Amino acid sequence: MTFDELLKEGITRLEAAGVPEAAHDAYALMEAAGGPDRTHFPLVRGEEVSDGVVFMFDAYVGVRSNRIPLQHILGEAWFHGLPFTVDEDVLIPRPDTETLVEAVLREAKTFPAPPSLLDLCTGSGAVAVALAVEGGFSSVTASDISHEAVNIARENAAKNGVEEKILFAEGDLFRAKTKSEKSLSRRSYDIICANPPYVPTAEIEELEPEVRDHDPLLALDGGADGLDFYRRLAKDAPAHLNEGGKILLEIGCGQGADVIRIFTEAGWREGRVEQDLSGRDRVFSALKP
Ligand code: GLN
Repeated sequence: MTFDELLKEGITRLEAAGVPEAAHDAYALMEAAGGPDRTHFPLVRGEEVSDGVVFMFDAYVGVRSNRIPLQHILGEAWFHGLPFTVDEDVLIPRPDTETLVEAVLREAKTFPAPPSLLDLCTGSGAVAVALAVEGGFSSVTASDISHEAVNIARENAAKNGVEEKILFAEGDLFRAKTKSEKSLSRRSYDIICANPPYVPTAEIEELEPEVRDHDPLLALDGGADGLDFYRRLAKDAPAHLNEGGKILLEIGCGQGADVIRIFTEAGWREGRVEQDLSGRDRVFSALKP
């Protein structure tokens, strides 16, 4: 069997299973199985494949056909050009979240001195690690309610060489504690950012199986209308922001007007919404009340 034949067979099986980007995933699994990467594939497409590669590729395609996320099979996801270890304990970083990273970087430059940053609901640590790698902050703190997520975020900081630059904390929003049991409850920052859970509970059922069955529910469920975390942050975050401090939050498309209303009613100023590259509401920002 040639590489070409094997790849085509894989794409057909993935398509039959309803995998959204069958060709993309088949190439990735070909490489993971010990075959060529996508760039080199055309050079060897007519060559015979070894039994080992056929065996591994078929096995991976079988797993992916059960709608296990590609990133869980590879054990890795790429975000902001950086590799992140991922598993069922953390939300797989989405390209959408680049909008949040870019917005925080832009905002950080408007401070007279490098600002301090708190990233809540850090999950895999994608946002905090990307920002720590970019630099320009006096400190970076990252927290999550999930013990497992904090461990993975720490691993990802080490993987990307910023372990020393991020202080990790575990617990519910501002009640999180660092390893030395210091609580965030008395601390304040120049910038707070987060990609909180924002999917309305009833809509989780309708998500793709990769998300519904393999991203942690804790990272998706934003309560009945998806806005629970925005209400909590609008109320609790002012006590943890320095004068002139800003909050920047990822939001779901269609949540812009509600989130602006929630924060404005709580006294926040200059609430605005920024769109992602596909033109959907993606990042909310506001100035401390
Ligand atoms: N963007 C994610 C999704 O589409 C949701 C992530 C979140 O709730 N923060 O499933």
